[in-house]
Amino acid sequence: MKPVAVVAVGGNSLAPRGERGSFADERRHARLAGEAIASVLGAGYRVVVTHGNGPQVGNLLMRAERAQPDLPVEPLDACVAETQGGIGYLLVQAIENALHARRLPGGVVAMITRVVVDPGDPAFVLPSKPIGPFFTEEEARRRERSLGWHVGDDAGRGWRRKVPSPWPVEIVELDAIRVGLDTGVTVIAAGGGGIPVMRGESGLSGVEAVIDKDRVSAQLAAALGAELLLFLTDVDGVALHFGQPEERWLDRLDSREAKEYLEQGEFSPGSMGPKIEAALDFLDAGGKSAIVTSAGKAAAALTGKAGTLIVARRGSKSSRVA
Ligand code: ADP
Ligand code: MG
Repeated sequence: MKPVAVVAVGGNSLAPRGERGSFADERRHARLAGEAIASVLGAGYRVVVTHGNGPQVGNLLMRAERAQPDLPVEPLDACVAETQGGIGYLLVQAIENALHARRLPGGVVAMITRVVVDPGDPAFVLPSKPIGPFFTEEEARRRERSLGWHVGDDAGRGWRRKVPSPWPVEIVELDAIRVGLDTGVTVIAAGGGGIPVMRGESGLSGVEAVIDKDRVSAQLAAALGAELLLFLTDVDGVALHFGQPEERWLDRLDSREAKEYLEQGEFSPGSMGPKIEAALDFLDAGGKSAIVTSAGKAAAALTGKAGTLIVARRGSKSSRVA
């Protein structure tokens, strides 16, 4: 059986900062992601694709603001579902077209995916993940009163809504994802981290929260026994002293080095940090390697010619015997 790769496409790589983020813009970026995924399939992997949705949910929430009071505000679980549909459609088209151009076989399907979270997760006590548009403190406080939002200052840039980001406990559609993989279909799943749901007496119900897509990608990759976890983001790799004069791009990191740099604060908490943590979790669970790179460099990264490769430290308990 072919090895499995989980490819996590960044929401920012589809809608880069500084662009308007029109559907045509996203389609252009998705095309690159499609080509990258086709090259992973061409390299002999079965593939599950996950994706982020930060900028896309941000736009949805902005639209909801502008439409007040004419249209009702949707709950967050519904927003995540909408972006799974929209981005899933973009990626299905892009991957299929890239496969067609390479005369590679195989279908692609986008799966609405729910992820169970724990009501006792400490994230629900103090919501900390900023989402949506920026407000003045006064505007934010007004929404706190009228909509029951948690609000707070976001790194001195303005006031925003803050929501819980609980740990993913269980991917509801995991078996369906496996069936897809086993029949040669590329599955797009757990978009935006998955739709957060909780178990109750009457079954599953949606929750006002967002799940980190890097975390859920690692969990999915571990559950599927994947060999490779590939992050496609808006930078070509991982750097030390990122954005500073002494910036240095890394070809390769072992798990111990990655952990040390993480502790030293080399990888920002809201962006590169979660990817490195996810890569470490995946390697700990027996994964062979993780790669961080951009869609444009993915094919080269598969043969070690671009991107940053993260592997378990040799001799550590976590390295799986090849
Ligand atoms: P995605 O949508 O792919 O999750 P993020 O914005 O969350 O994208 O993460 C990618 C960003 O991480 C890069 O654009 C870069 O600004 C930031 N970053 C923070 N620390 C580093 C680092 N050490 N090396 C490279 N990029 C970093
Ligand atoms: Mg991110």
